[in-house]
Amino acid sequence: MTVLLLATTTGYQIRSFSDAARALDVRLVFGSDRCDHLDDPWRDAAIPVRFHDLAGSTRRIVEAFGGTPPDGVLAVGDRPSVLAAHAAEAFGLPGNPPDAAARSRNKRAAREAFQAAGLPTPEYRHVPVESDARALADGQSYPVVVKPLGLSGSRGVMRADNAASFVAVFTRLRRLLGSIDIRLERDQLHDAVLIEAFIPGREFAVEGVLTAGAFSPFAIFDKPDPLDGPFFEETIYVTPSRADEHTQRSIVTSVAAAARALGLVHGPVHAECRVNDQGVYVLEVAARPIGGLCSRALRFMHRGKTVSLEEVLLRHAIGDPLDDTGRELRASGVMMIPIPHRGVFRGVDGEELARGLALIEAVHITAKADTLLTPLPEGRSYLGFIFAAGDTPDAVEQALRAAHRQLVFRIDRDVPIVVPG
Ligand code: ADP
Repeated sequence: MTVLLLATTTGYQIRSFSDAARALDVRLVFGSDRCDHLDDPWRDAAIPVRFHDLAGSTRRIVEAFGGTPPDGVLAVGDRPSVLAAHAAEAFGLPGNPPDAAARSRNKRAAREAFQAAGLPTPEYRHVPVESDARALADGQSYPVVVKPLGLSGSRGVMRADNAASFVAVFTRLRRLLGSIDIRLERDQLHDAVLIEAFIPGREFAVEGVLTAGAFSPFAIFDKPDPLDGPFFEETIYVTPSRADEHTQRSIVTSVAAAARALGLVHGPVHAECRVNDQGVYVLEVAARPIGGLCSRALRFMHRGKTVSLEEVLLRHAIGDPLDDTGRELRASGVMMIPIPHRGVFRGVDGEELARGLALIEAVHITAKADTLLTPLPEGRSYLGFIFAAGDTPDAVEQALRAAHRQLVFRIDRDVPIVVPG
C-alpha cells in the first residue's frame, strides 16, 4: 500500500507518520514545497509541489506516480489539505471535493457556508486589506474580531473594543499581511480581512475523521484558559472534556453539520468552536489533523496496542475500518507554551524539575537558543510543549500548569541597534 502525504514541514508529525507507515508496512510518498530543505526522511525523493499552483502541482503528482496511483492521500497543514483534495480527485480516491477543501481554509467562505446552512454565525463582513480603517471604525458595534482569511494558529486574529483600538489592530493586520513571508505564499486570501462580532463563551477543539460523509469524533478538548483577547493564543488542551453530556453532544452535532455545510466528506478533521447560551458557534473546520506535536496528546488502542493518531489516520487513508480502534482511557493534555514577549531566546531553567512532576509525560522546548522570538499575533511558534496524562482531566490540567510554573525562560528584550555615528 502507498500513501501520498502532502506537507509544508518536516517536523515531528512527519516523523510520526513515517513511524506509523513502517509499523503498517505502508510506503509513504512525500509531496512538499520545501524539498530543498528536506532531509529525505524515507530516503525516497519527495515530489516537489507549489501549494499556490494547484493545477500544475496536481499534474506533477499524477506524473510522479506513473501508472500506479497511491492507495490514499493525506495532508498536514491547511494549504496542503487543498492540494490533497485535488490529488484525491485526480486519482479517483476518497477525499474532499476540492472546492470544499478550499472553503475550509477560507474564513470568509466558511462563514458564508455556515450561514447558508443556518448554523449560528456571528455578524461578519469582509473588506479589502487596503480599506480606510478610520472609515470602517465608525458605524460598527463593538467588540469585534479582526482576522485574516487564510492564516491559521490564531495568527493575525485580534479583538477591538472600540473605534480607536479597531484602527490600531486593522493597521497591524495590514502590516502583517504585507510582510514578505506572507506575500511569498502568493495567496489572494491575504488581500482581504474579515471583521466579525466577538462571540463570548468557552472554547473547545474537536478532533475526528469523516468517512464517506459520516463524522466520527476522536476527542473533544477543553481549552480551560479564557480566550477573550486581545490576542488568542492557544495554551492548554485537555481531554476528555468536562462539559456536560448535552453540551458535548451539541458540539459533535454542530461540528458534523459545519463540515457538511462546507462540503467536506472524507479524511481528518480538526475543528474549533465557542459555546455560550445561544448555542455552539463553530469557528472553523479544517480538513487536516491537529498540528505538530499536539497530536501526541491523543493515543489510541488498537488490538491491545497503543497507537498514535498518525497511525489511525494512515489506516483510515488506506480504507481500513476503524471499528476496532478506540481512545486510550486515560485523561491527557498538552500545553502549548506561549511566547511571553518579543526577544532573543537564551535558554530555559527548570526543565528537569518540570519533567519530574507527577503526571508529566514530556517537556519539549522547541525554541532554538539565540533566535528571535515573535509572539502572537505576528508570530506563529511556541516556546515548546508540555504533555501530561492521568486519571482525570482536572489532574492533567493542574499538572500542566505546575510544570509550566517550573519553567523559567530567559528571553532578552530586543537589543536596540546602535548605528555608529
Ligand atoms: P485560526 O484559524 O487562525 O485559528 P480562528 O478564526 O479559529 O483562526 O480564530 C483563532 C482564535 O481566535 C479562536 O480560537 C478564538 O479563540 C478566537 N476567535 C476567532 N474569532 C472569534 C470571534 N468571532 N469571537 C471570539 N473569539 C474569536
